[in-house]
Amino acid sequence: MPDAKLFRELPSVDELLRSSRLEVLIEAYGQAAVASALRAALERFRKRIAAGTLTSAGLIAELDALPLELTRELRRDDARTLKPVINATGVILHTNLGRAPLAESAIAAISEVAGGYSNLEFDLASGARGKRDVHAEALLAELFAANRYGDGSTPRSIVVNNCAAAVLLALNSLAEGGEVIVSRGELVEIGGSFRVPEVMAKSGAVLREVGTTNRTRLTDYADAITDQTKLILRVHRSNFAIVGFAEQPSLAELVELGRKHGVPVLEDLGNGALLDLREVEVHGEPGVHESLAAGVDLVCYSGDKLLGGPQAGVISGRAALVEKLRRNPLFRALRADKLTYAALSATLQAYAREHYEAVPTLRMMRVQGSEIRRRAEAIAGALLRGTSLKVSVEEGESLIGGGTAPTATLRTYLLKVAREDSAPETLLAELRKRELPIVARAEGSAAVLDLRTVFPEQDAEVLAGLRALDRPA
Ligand SMILES: *Cc1c(COP(=O)(O)O)cnc(C)c1O
Repeated sequence: MPDAKLFRELPSVDELLRSSRLEVLIEAYGQAAVASALRAALERFRKRIAAGTLTSAGLIAELDALPLELTRELRRDDARTLKPVINATGVILHTNLGRAPLAESAIAAISEVAGGYSNLEFDLASGARGKRDVHAEALLAELFAANRYGDGSTPRSIVVNNCAAAVLLALNSLAEGGEVIVSRGELVEIGGSFRVPEVMAKSGAVLREVGTTNRTRLTDYADAITDQTKLILRVHRSNFAIVGFAEQPSLAELVELGRKHGVPVLEDLGNGALLDLREVEVHGEPGVHESLAAGVDLVCYSGDKLLGGPQAGVISGRAALVEKLRRNPLFRALRADKLTYAALSATLQAYAREHYEAVPTLRMMRVQGSEIRRRAEAIAGALLRGTSLKVSVEEGESLIGGGTAPTATLRTYLLKVAREDSAPETLLAELRKRELPIVARAEGSAAVLDLRTVFPEQDAEVLAGLRALDRPA
């Protein structure tokens, strides 16, 4: 039998909303969400009272536990699926984890323009309509001021949404209806289904393959040039290497050939390194300056790879070609938003001022193994007191990632954690289930954490995560 007087013991939504116990929840999730969760909870109580399955004592206990229950519910209902994680993989440019973390100045620049209005397309001097692409252009021009072409001109640049868009725009603007010569060793897939032959087809240009997978000579290119040829394309082998019996002409040789026949050379470089990577012992990964120094007519690169900025695609090169791209209606469709310009400009400014330490990806590449070892040992030391986990610190290697420098590794120290009777995958899953998930990798029977990609201020959270492994849920 339903206990009718229990219905009268149910508080109203308004009463509950005014109770101090829900203040924190309302602060976090807003009055509307909390009210709606309360209505649903009260409805559940009513059903149970009607069914005779809730007693007076039971109701008091349930009401007491209500804030906690609502917290769980609202957290679960949080419709945002995108959230921060700790990257303990050691892969600096992890595409699945959002590639480059931004510099503080880039984050500040985003927040300055995000919440208000800006002069995105407004010329403050004349009060007339302006162009959004001026914002990154001046800084890029400054960075490339020393890379003069033979006619004395300096490179100009425009920005689109990502490097894939940059390549599509360049091919479509310069070669639609004509032929583009590419080596068979460069008909690559970059990941996330960016495939050179397919992008070429979408651009309306006809792919003219030359050479073989492992060897393409300058004469192969020369023999393929006809009056249909609009462009020579060089694609940087970002995410793989061909070793052994291999040969390809240098970019400078391609440029010289192109010049002789009046055919521009476009390079899909990808990585966007603005700093010489040999400084961090990474060899064979040429940067944007080297492409421009070789005289390339246009070079495309990502903003969020080695450049360390926001997702963007930058195209730099000869002013007349850049202007052609700018006038293509596709440029409008592929354009970057104000937050991108804000973050990219601030990142480029860090380069212009030589504040390399301000750019997290550069900082992570340059951090010394000994520093990583010190932090790993501090965590291991704190963990070892009274733990049943097996913990060690061992030498290992970090990858740059993001489809860059596939063969290059950086010396690091790894924190290895194993638990009796647990597969490393179990430990990894527990680390990923945390409120602030920790992403690590497995090696042998251990979960392996590389602190190169963990911000030092996150070390305490990593320690907490590892401590929790000691008490399996
Ligand atoms: C990464 C890469 C791309 C794609 O760049 P996104 O910015 O991810 O679109 C294209 N080409 C090369 C050579 C790359 O390395």
